[in-house]
Amino acid sequence: MVGNTFVVEKTCPICEKTMRVVKTRSRIMVVSRDEDACTHYANFNPYLYTVWVCEHCGFAADEATFTTKIPDRHLGILRNILLTRCIRVPFVEERTVGNAATAFRLALKFQEILKGKASKSAKYAHQLAWVYREAGDTVQEAEFMNKAAEFYEAALAKEHFPIGELTDNAVIYLIAAIYYRLGEKQKATSYLSRLISDKSVRERERRIFDKARDLWGEIRAERKK
Ligand SMILES: [Zn+2]
Repeated sequence: MVGNTFVVEKTCPICEKTMRVVKTRSRIMVVSRDEDACTHYANFNPYLYTVWVCEHCGFAADEATFTTKIPDRHLGILRNILLTRCIRVPFVEERTVGNAATAFRLALKFQEILKGKASKSAKYAHQLAWVYREAGDTVQEAEFMNKAAEFYEAALAKEHFPIGELTDNAVIYLIAAIYYRLGEKQKATSYLSRLISDKSVRERERRIFDKARDLWGEIRAERKK
């Protein structure tokens, strides 16, 4: 729905041309939230617009990447790839699932080329899974849920937390929730038990502890059926 978005012009950090991006309004009504934090909104899916794509050179990434200084080494690599080719991704104001998937896949590709942080790739893969979920494409949803879990696991092993507001315990919960939704109850349970058995989580991150305990209870109840 066009009323939920507006178009702004930005300068692409790679080709330095003026590009258009779609931003979403912050006041959209939340309908429900899934275990893995996927939020459903009334008649609108903001995840379609997470990844910005330059309509001239094809660079794709989230807003934070576009608006934070890109390290010179990365600029060199990206310009080498993008300014010598002609990747045409036309600007669209109202994205389809296909447009969004192209944007996320490009962003994941650039992450791979730059050996970017696993936590960022996890976010892209997870949100692309949500786009497929909303569209009812369960096969592609599962593919990207699996990728998201693997990227989150790599982030846990290699990165320093918190990353923004994301703590390591929040990531452990997300991995558990992803495996739960994928039907991998055993994997989900093993991640949840790490949270439930940790006294410091109960004391310091009560919200995550409660969510972990609830999901654990849900899995146990399903086993008894
Ligand atoms: Zn560009």
